[in-house]
Amino acid sequence: MTTQQLESVLEGNKPMLADKVAIITGSGRGIGKAIAQAMVQQGAKVVITDINEELCQTTAKELKEGGGEVIGVPCNVTISDTIEKMVETVIKTWGRIDILVNNAGITRDDLFIRMTEDQWQAVIDTNLTSAFKVTKPVIKVMSKQRFGRIINIASTTGVHGNFGQANYAAAKAGLIGFTKTLAREYASRNITCNAVAPGFIETDMTKALGEEKISKVVEHIPLGRMGQPQDIAKAVMFFAGPGEYVTGQVLKVDGGLYI
Ligand code: NAP
Repeated sequence: MTTQQLESVLEGNKPMLADKVAIITGSGRGIGKAIAQAMVQQGAKVVITDINEELCQTTAKELKEGGGEVIGVPCNVTISDTIEKMVETVIKTWGRIDILVNNAGITRDDLFIRMTEDQWQAVIDTNLTSAFKVTKPVIKVMSKQRFGRIINIASTTGVHGNFGQANYAAAKAGLIGFTKTLAREYASRNITCNAVAPGFIETDMTKALGEEKISKVVEHIPLGRMGQPQDIAKAVMFFAGPGEYVTGQVLKVDGGLYI
């Protein structure tokens, strides 16, 4: 975005992401859905993609009914074939990909002593290897365009570690290293790569912890509340839009939990 374009956006003449095509993985619900909603509001053409086919189509329909240009393309981010099909569909539909948000993720928490190899591998596959697999075909398109914005959804756990999350912390720390490396390798092609590290955000993922644990964590958050998916979406929008001179960064969005 040039300064002139930014001025035009700020004056309210043009949505910030007009004509941009964005893929958001795991966007059937939670943080991914909030990111998709924010991008639609700013004029992007949005691809809702999720392992859950029904959720994927329901969310795509909801955003379309709200006036967005949206398609729903189911895709399991751990399976290369389905990823390639999803990317082909996007190219056939809109001919380009400007923004990729690697958001799909799972937790399989347990103290290290009890953590099984299956729990370890599922989290590494879904939260880390997935970013490798999805970014591969997408970055080829972005390279040809000489434009791309890649935003990886990491976690404060990837920076600070957390009890019961050796698998998740390793995956998210890996994602941060991946982010910084792609930022270096692709800057010359005008592709930026940044990470957003959410703290404690109110979604189905954290609901599973139960009321008692949740209120204990909230006691330690300086801003005094859990984050909302929209708080993460706002940070993602910065990297997707005006943050054009920012690459290789990790932005913690955690209400001050890890000041
Ligand atoms: P969520 O509510 O559980 O949503 C995650 C979405 O990803 C779900 O729709 C899920 O589908 C989908 N998904 C799971 N595995 C997938 C796969 N293999 N392929 C495609 N989609 C898949 O989680 P969230 O809280 O929104 O989290 C989104 C991202 O933020 C994750 O990367 C998470 O690690 C990160 N994060 C969250 C928090 C937090 O406090 N919530 C904190 C730090 C980081 P299903 O419906 O089938 O499960």
